[in-house]
Amino acid sequence: MCRHTAWLGTPRTLASLLHDPPHGLLRQAWEPRRMLHGRINADGFGAGWYAPEIRTEPARYRRAVPIWTDASFASLAGVISSGCVLAAVRNATVGMPVEETATAPYTDGRHLLSHNGRVDLTVPLGLLRGSRGAPVPDSRCDSALLAAVVWQRLAAGAHLADAVAEVVVAAGGRDGAARLNLLVTDGSQIVATTWGETLSYRVSGGENTGVGIGADMEVGTEIGAGVEVASEPSDDGDGWIDLDDHQLLVADTRNVIVSNLT
Ligand code: GLN
Repeated sequence: MCRHTAWLGTPRTLASLLHDPPHGLLRQAWEPRRMLHGRINADGFGAGWYAPEIRTEPARYRRAVPIWTDASFASLAGVISSGCVLAAVRNATVGMPVEETATAPYTDGRHLLSHNGRVDLTVPLGLLRGSRGAPVPDSRCDSALLAAVVWQRLAAGAHLADAVAEVVVAAGGRDGAARLNLLVTDGSQIVATTWGETLSYRVSGGENTGVGIGADMEVGTEIGAGVEVASEPSDDGDGWIDLDDHQLLVADTRNVIVSNLT
């Protein structure tokens, strides 16, 4: 299945998050270490990031080719810097289209979403059907349909973490074989779930920023202060914390809160 990662904190380049770490998303595309389903992630990749001084909606770049083939993205990634980034590499589920519109991150308004897993298509379609004003999914891919369900809950006024938790629990209840690791951000918080796949996070604190994040703060000046949430650790350094299955993580620049999904 796919691998995804998000950063929230002091601005850093996309390359410092995705390309430079020894086991960052670029490496995870061809040699993931913890992926429980599938072997490589060569069916596409995408990244979204925020430039709040310009607009509230994120910028997004995605392509239906392996991330290692896109030298132009690597070049851009070296100079694009953001305080909030969400990116994914894709291993398409059997039967799902391989196309740019089926590639995470999906976006709606100021939100970005990635799904690591699979779910029967009838499940998100059923969850969408109940209410009016359903958003049109980007693609007939399970993840795009799940994203549309989350967008619908948000449009109805749900808080981000509540919407994500509600959709995962509802979908998991309807499809016992579903895997539902979602990673979502609105630019100021990261919400993630574990439901059948791996997830880790690490909090780091830059010496000069004075920003503290929870009790687990580590000093890591090379990446600044913030929290990284990822399908698997991007290096063998200290500070990574693994989540259990069926958990919900909510992180902002002050706190990381992990609770059980029920
Ligand atoms: N089911 C999604 C897709 O086909 C996600 C796949 C994954 O997690 N590898 O893109």
